[in-house]
This record gives sequence, structure tokens and C-alpha cells, in this order.
Amino acid sequence: MLFWKPNTRDWHPKVTKHFEQFGGVWPVHCVEGSPGAMFHPDLELPKEALVMSKGMDPEKDSYSAFHAIDSSGMALKNLLKIFGVTEIYIGGLATDYCVKYSALDALKDGLEVSILTDAIAGVNLQPEDSSVALQEMISLGAKKTISEELRKI
Ligand SMILES: [Zn+2]
Repeated sequence: MLFWKPNTRDWHPKVTKHFEQFGGVWPVHCVEGSPGAMFHPDLELPKEALVMSKGMDPEKDSYSAFHAIDSSGMALKNLLKIFGVTEIYIGGLATDYCVKYSALDALKDGLEVSILTDAIAGVNLQPEDSSVALQEMISLGAKKTISEELRKI
């Protein structure tokens, strides 16, 4: 089995409708090239890990990982097809936004989706947002699992 690990990150321009000061919901975060856009130093990425960026369009929120592109401009969806990926595991932030929209896009594309429930966290603008999002993902076909299960693959 090919175990391939693309990592997506927000990589926003300084001015974007994603940010509260320009009409969006969110405080400034992950501005391209800034320290806030870097992966946490304790995150151990394998050398072969593929880093994909999203959120560069100043007109869109781009929550889904399926809006991400690699350094050559290749979209995640196309890379998954090239590598013959049929099943994905999703962890990261935030359950009620990027995780949810990534899972829903993956399910729409016919992928098997597992949510790593011990490796996600929500924003919870409303207290139930994360649990509602997880329920929605499950109701549309996603499975729940934990990171330890990845070690068994
Ligand atoms: Zn963002």
C-alpha cells in the first residue's frame, strides 16, 4: 500500500476577504511567508512529505484541502488521481471548517474518508459546531478513527 502524506497549510495574502478586517470572519493568520504560516517546529514532517498551500485567492476562504496546490500548481484532487489514492485520513484544524470541507469534498469525489478524531480540534464559534460538523461528515459516509490506527497500516 502506498502511504502518501500531503500536508496542506493556509498561505494567505496580507489582504484577503478571509480576514475580519477585510470583511471576513477570521483574525489575521498564516500570512504567506510569515512565521505564523510555518508548521509548528515540533511537527516532524518526513523529507518526502508534500506541502500544499491553500487560501491564496483573496476573494475566497478556501477551507477545503481540495483548494490546495503544490509548488508546481498541481491541485490535490489531480495528485490523488495520479497516485491512485482511494482512501484518505484527515487530521488537523479545524474540525468545523477545513476538516469538514475537506472531508465533504473528498466524499463527493468518491474517496473513502476517515477522520482522525484524536488529531482534530474545532474553532467552535458556536459551542456545538465541531460535534455538528463531525456528525455531518459521518452522515455523509466518513468514518471515525484514531491516529494509532495509522500505525497498523
Ligand atoms: Zn485561513
